[in-house]
Amino acid sequence: MNLDVNHENSTNPALLADLHRILGTHQILSDPLDLLVYECDAYTLEKKVPSVVVLPNSTLEVAEIVRCCKKHQVAFIPRGAGTNLSGAILPIENAVIISLSRMNKVLQVDIENRRALVEAGCVNIWITHAVRSAGLLYAPDPSSQTACTIGGNVATNSGGPHTLKYGVTTNHVLGFEIVLPEGEVIWLGATMEGGEDTGGLDLRGAAIGCEGMFGIVTRVLVNLIPAPQSWRTLLGVFSSVDDASQAVSDIIASGIVPAALEMMDQLITQAVEAAYKFGFPLNAGALLIVELDGLEADLENQAVEVERLCLANHANEVRRARTDKQRADLWKCRKRAFGAIGRLSPNFLTQDGVVPRSKLPEIMRFIQQTSAKYGLRIPNVFHAGDGNIHPLILYNETHAEEVDRAVKAGNEILDRCLELGGSVSGEHGIGVEKAGFMEKQFSKADIEAMKSLRRIFDPEQRCNPRKMFPNGKRCMDFAPRRQISV
Ligand SMILES: Cc1cc2nc3c(=O)[nH]c(=O)nc-3n(C[C@H](O)[C@H](O)[C@H](O)COP(=O)(O)OP(=O)(O)OC[C@H]3O[C@@H](n4cnc5c(N)ncnc54)[C@H](O)[C@@H]3O)c2cc1C
Repeated sequence: MNLDVNHENSTNPALLADLHRILGTHQILSDPLDLLVYECDAYTLEKKVPSVVVLPNSTLEVAEIVRCCKKHQVAFIPRGAGTNLSGAILPIENAVIISLSRMNKVLQVDIENRRALVEAGCVNIWITHAVRSAGLLYAPDPSSQTACTIGGNVATNSGGPHTLKYGVTTNHVLGFEIVLPEGEVIWLGATMEGGEDTGGLDLRGAAIGCEGMFGIVTRVLVNLIPAPQSWRTLLGVFSSVDDASQAVSDIIASGIVPAALEMMDQLITQAVEAAYKFGFPLNAGALLIVELDGLEADLENQAVEVERLCLANHANEVRRARTDKQRADLWKCRKRAFGAIGRLSPNFLTQDGVVPRSKLPEIMRFIQQTSAKYGLRIPNVFHAGDGNIHPLILYNETHAEEVDRAVKAGNEILDRCLELGGSVSGEHGIGVEKAGFMEKQFSKADIEAMKSLRRIFDPEQRCNPRKMFPNGKRCMDFAPRRQISV
């Protein structure tokens, strides 16, 4: 057995002994093989095996673990399902990983007031499963929703295909319980018993999107919405990304607000078709998934108008999902698109830039040029309606020089997003990956203000250290693993 996994850290024995006093043996992982799966999140370019992972069952246990970390002056990192795409849970500074995966229950549902209280480790889709029979749903639907947790969603302010119409996590989380880095347990925002408007400063809003740097979210009160009465789901088949992008602009300009407006280019379509056999046309330059939802009476007119706008932009055809199953299958393919990449490449680097919608054709052309410049394939599947691109840069982590090219290609794409008036993150967060971009996107004063806010919650900066803010020392010292044979 040969593990070349950057496992040079060892846990302080006194810390480990204290953790064993708080938790049962089956709640602590410290064996290198058990820890291997915690070496990274879905940003696999940088890896580091942690020295200890703990799996609490309650807020009380979380608070005790946090106090224990304070006593030993060690850092800790909250972890949900590990689907983050920017290295936000990379175990820097020999931190204790606190995984919320066992605190995963839907605790209470209040149908009358359309809200639910869930534990932070509850998987996003489980909330909708719990309330579907009452005609309700939890709106934010990251494509990872069958795995990612509500705690992770709060920490990254997650979006998803349907956030074009319904908004992101902050628009649907009413309040939450959070264990602060000194071990104090507080509640921010509305409670199950109270109304929605709490008055005073919106600390709930301030803490959403903090990437686990303010404390550990343990319970979350979410808003539920009525499931739409009806849907129309259309698939526009285009010869080029340019035409599909123009259709996106025209649909939005027409005043129609689709629930979702997603694009897949040819390379990703071919990979998805090979994996899931939906019947996508393999020669299409780009596919546009347009979903309209709401009252049945209004939908057909909108669908006809969307069809007209697609055809006016040279769509070869516009298909419709005729049954609930066809619609569900179409969404399954879209949401599992990243998974299909395994057919194309051993590794991929997902970027999460944003550009004004009108700049979509320009950024897509730039991505093609970058792909040619670095000799790397870059399929694209993304939230076109939000101008939120997800180029997937394919590389092989065992070729150091290829890793280097992938990083350079990603950086150039993000630089271009900024030049076009956009942002380096639409929904995946900054993590370690894009910390160096913060100074390009924000002024020094902005960054100082963010750091000051962070210090109010975490004065010693032991909660998920060295994420989001530029550190001077980047994390490339956590080199990608070159090989592993077990
Ligand atoms: C295939 C795929 C598709 C995706 N699609 C989307 C998408 O459409 N939209 C989107 O927004 N994202 C998407 N993502 C990214 C990712 O799923 C989200 O960022 C998600 O919110 C992460 O949740 P998680 O439970 O996996 O959190 P983790 O990855 O475990 O952690 C993410 C961050 O949250 C913090 N955190 C986790 N739990 C807690 C907690 N209880 N308290 C405090 N901090 C916590 C961590 O410290 C870290 O900073 C996708 C990822 C994949 C792999």
